[in-house]
Amino acid sequence: MKIIIIEESKTAALELTEMLQSAGHTDVSDVESLDRALRAMQRFASGETPVDLVLIDLDNHDTDGIAAILTVKSHREFEDIPIIAIAENDDSGELDRAFAAGASDYIVKPVGRTELRARVRSALQLRREMVKRMLRERELERLARKLERMSNQDGLTGLANRRCFDDTLIREWVRNGREDNPVGLLMIDIDHFKSYNDALGHVNGDVCLRHVANSIRSATNRPGDLVARYGGEEFAIILPNTDFNGALVVAGNIHANLSKNSISHPASQISRSVTVSIGAAAVVPTCGSTPEHLIQAADTALYQAKQSGRNRTESVSLPEPDMVRQ
Ligand code: GH3
Ligand code: MG
Ligand code: MG
Repeated sequence: MKIIIIEESKTAALELTEMLQSAGHTDVSDVESLDRALRAMQRFASGETPVDLVLIDLDNHDTDGIAAILTVKSHREFEDIPIIAIAENDDSGELDRAFAAGASDYIVKPVGRTELRARVRSALQLRREMVKRMLRERELERLARKLERMSNQDGLTGLANRRCFDDTLIREWVRNGREDNPVGLLMIDIDHFKSYNDALGHVNGDVCLRHVANSIRSATNRPGDLVARYGGEEFAIILPNTDFNGALVVAGNIHANLSKNSISHPASQISRSVTVSIGAAAVVPTCGSTPEHLIQAADTALYQAKQSGRNRTESVSLPEPDMVRQ
């Protein structure tokens, strides 16, 4: 573990280094000023061996020792590094100030070999435990983020899943209603997908679903748009602050992307490549309506798109907003 000594007297620094090295602490550096110490600590922190312990002589002349402890502790990346203060005498006032500033221990001069080793050993033990705890916390945070992502993501396509869709629609419904903005919704269903599976098998069906998901994902332009796998071979897009015409533009992009990407569909009755039917709807949320109304409208439009030949977008207009806003 790496130890840094802030000591302006070269003789005292060498003496401390020798005592530490003879106790098996091979990675010891000494610097004569706080500025140099901070620079070295920053350099070590960005490398592979950050500093694990700081020994600071409170009687260095260039800086007030207590202020030096405060300065080291004020850097976020150094706040968990233990500091041992080396004091001229047992002045309890100064030692109290050193502890208040963030020192974890102190040694009074002349520094005895046995005492130094004991204090350093326990400070490094403390540091090891802190590092272990920090790593555990980081790992737990990483796992929590992963679980959070997984609980909102569809495993096959990487799009938002149904649960995320439901939550987002309610959130956007309330937010856009408050701001008097429309929410657009597209319901998208792959045409003749059963016959795709029957002809090419489920594994290829899954690959196709991923390609279609990508074509749909790249049809949206705004970071707030939410593309979800609604279920099976159905997808949905929530378009916040988007009116009817905006929703139709996104639907047009989807048809264009699929036509450009041209995923071969040997069993389709309407095209040589995979196509989708889309139902579009948009409304300004009000007290008199619910997200389900929007979903129903987009679903009805999707049904009409299927009925009128597939590979197209149909839309259903919703009743005018009520007088009372949410
Ligand atoms: P339509 O044009 O009317 O939508 O016809 P369709 O064949 O797509 O509709 P239908 O609802 O009859 O069939 C949907 C098919 O989608 C059924 C199933 O084989 C397939 N499917 C649903 N989920 C998955 C999936 O996760 N993977 C694969 N490979 N196929 C799926
Ligand atoms: Mg379907
Ligand atoms: Mg279908």
